[in-house]
Amino acid sequence: MKPGLAVVIVGEDPASQVYVASKSKMAKECGFHSVQHTLSADISEAELRALVADLNADPAVHGILVQLPLPQHIDSGAVIRTIDPDKDVDGFHVVNVGRLGAGELDGAFVPCTPAGAMLMIERARGRDLSGLSAVVIGRSNIVGKPMAALLLSVDCTVTIAHSRTPDLEATCRDADVLVVAVGRAEMVRGSWIKPGATVIDVGINRVSGVYGKSHLVGDVHFDSAAEVAGALTPVPGGVGPMTVACLLRNTLVAARAQLAGGAA
Ligand code: NAD
Repeated sequence: MKPGLAVVIVGEDPASQVYVASKSKMAKECGFHSVQHTLSADISEAELRALVADLNADPAVHGILVQLPLPQHIDSGAVIRTIDPDKDVDGFHVVNVGRLGAGELDGAFVPCTPAGAMLMIERARGRDLSGLSAVVIGRSNIVGKPMAALLLSVDCTVTIAHSRTPDLEATCRDADVLVVAVGRAEMVRGSWIKPGATVIDVGINRVSGVYGKSHLVGDVHFDSAAEVAGALTPVPGGVGPMTVACLLRNTLVAARAQLAGGAA
């Protein structure tokens, strides 16, 4: 049987459409059973939860992803809590959040963006990250908090910085590992970075360039940061593809666990 991934998208958010298309395309390319449900923005929360319940019961679907953000009239938390935790390949259900927070990583689905970032940090610095100073800018449930939990689980000394952090530059300059997940184009400059640091740029920002053509940049100013950092991920082409790869990995793990009749 093929691993099955169901992706649910509600509404017309252009960025979400791009992310979902790349996830579904990659799932198909890897030979997964891939289904996409594209729903109108005015769908009710009850209808959306009923769809998720159907997917929970579908034996051909091993992983379910509900693309966020959802329209304002829908309680995202309630929808995510409807997903069977054993099919929660995005790792956003409170059961998986709790497993990660408790350090029970073997049984947890870890959110795909921080999981992918972690693989790149280990590729740059080796698997022993013990004692390194890690700074995560951003405290979202999707990136910042799980990223910090992962870095803590490998014994980094972790600081979570955010919009109320007083001296962000000084905080960043202390980091051996710096993960930036803010959503502000090129905010972090080379002068903020400790020489040799590993820098993971999670941000995706569309900016208009010369001749009115728009393009994507990260939260890190690439050229100045590249002169100082030991390793630096590009945008696009860094964290994004790793996110998709980790989604497919989580789906494969879910499929194997469900076929074996146990939890992930
Ligand atoms: P979010 O808006 O939920 O959180 C942003 C965080 O940045 C907040 O915690 C806020 O406190 C902090 N922040 C805002 N302004 C700040 C400032 N001036 N200084 C310091 N901190 C500040 O965003 P998110 O969902 O965590 O996403 C962050 C970025 O990562 C976005 O650009 C998003 O598009 C991108 N993203 C990329 C991927 C991927 O696969 N590559 C996945 C998820 C998110």
